[in-house]
Amino acid sequence: MALIEVKHLKKYFNTAGGILHAVDDVTLNIEKSTTLGIVGESGCGKSTLGRTIIRLLEPTSGEVCFKGENITSLSNKEFKHLRVGMQMIFQDPYASLDPRMSVSQLIAEPIQTYKLTSSKQELEKRVSDLMDTVGLAARLKNSYPHELDGGRRQRIGIARALSLNPDFIVCDEPVSALDVSIQAQVLNLLQDLQKERNLTYMFITHDMSVVKHISDEICVMYLGQVVEKCQAKELFKRP
Ligand code: ADP
Ligand code: ADP
Repeated sequence: MALIEVKHLKKYFNTAGGILHAVDDVTLNIEKSTTLGIVGESGCGKSTLGRTIIRLLEPTSGEVCFKGENITSLSNKEFKHLRVGMQMIFQDPYASLDPRMSVSQLIAEPIQTYKLTSSKQELEKRVSDLMDTVGLAARLKNSYPHELDGGRRQRIGIARALSLNPDFIVCDEPVSALDVSIQAQVLNLLQDLQKERNLTYMFITHDMSVVKHISDEICVMYLGQVVEKCQAKELFKRP
């Protein structure tokens, strides 16, 4: 059984110009501990697909199974215990991080929201372990996101996603906003974490060299549909 099974998933938006088929009948599986790369030009539906799979958006129709359970049919209350298993890392951590919160507050927030611990010491320990895991120096715990460079801000985003011990992470252009010199460091971190924690990734990018580096399988999207699916090795063997 694949960790993620997506069946005939559709996500349409009502727009001023009519109904937009952002995700239009996508069927795919993601095996545990692998990375599925999603590529395609801007606006083809990559982000919407990732968000709909982890239920940040409600699908128009179709089905998503997580560990064999159909999460599409669950109420929000029934889904809550699975929410922690499916997380997202965003392109621009600056936009998704509250500028008024310090590094340690930002990393503690998901743990507090999901009440994973009620002990203050345990929370502090988890936050400092997570900072260590993602390569943030302990001295930065009282810093604010605007005081850090893009790579360190993305490490906060990664720590937040990891804080709930997920099985599956949608990485939505996680290195696209970073300086080229920092991109490789963050990609290596994501790959190391995958091995250490048996993580399963959906990795969204427009950058073919990144997707080649990180994926096992690759789906190419065009106008809301998966138009090609192949092993990463195969795609780059061709002339
Ligand atoms: P990608 O990630 O490949 O750049 P997106 O999934 O962000 O593509 O967008 C797919 C299409 O859906 C685009 O045309 C985008 O403008 C549209 N879209 C995305 N989110 C919304 C929304 N909330 N309301 C209306 N249209 C949207
Ligand atoms: P990304 O950079 O991840 O592709 P976008 O910049 O396309 O994200 O979109 C940012 C946010 O705005 C997302 O939550 C997306 O769903 C929403 N959005 C994108 N396009 C539209 C649209 N045409 N109408 C309304 N919301 C949109």
